[in-house]
Amino acid sequence: MSCLFCKIIAGDIPASKVYEDDQMIAFNDITPQAPMHVLVVPKRHLATLNELSAAEDGLVGAMVRRAAAIAKERGVDGPGYRTVFNCNAQAGQSVFHIHLHVLGGRAMAWPPG
Ligand code: AMP
Ligand code: ZN
Repeated sequence: MSCLFCKIIAGDIPASKVYEDDQMIAFNDITPQAPMHVLVVPKRHLATLNELSAAEDGLVGAMVRRAAAIAKERGVDGPGYRTVFNCNAQAGQSVFHIHLHVLGGRAMAWPPG
């Protein structure tokens, strides 16, 4: 298995876990871009958003709701936070196992770089 996030899910590579259930895991990003930077990752390997079908609607919905719950736990729900899925090279995707970035704790610019 060559996928970094599959290795984290399998427990072969350590991560700073903040949440886990039967379908997803969330852990702190190793190179945080904000005071809070969590990645919400499905346990099933899907390389990019382009692989999603209607079968994953429930999974993706649960990931987004988990992102909101983590933001609330960290107290950034009121001030605001950002959720991002990068898809493929031009968007900056570097790990090809889908993941939802959850960033908060500082003001953020728009448009993104
Ligand atoms: P992306 O560029 O959207 O594919 O995001 C990949 C993210 O994974 C980046 O923000 C990296 O900092 C993060 N990352 C890479 N390796 C690890 C790791 N071992 N543990 C936690 N986060 C990681
Ligand atoms: Zn994977």
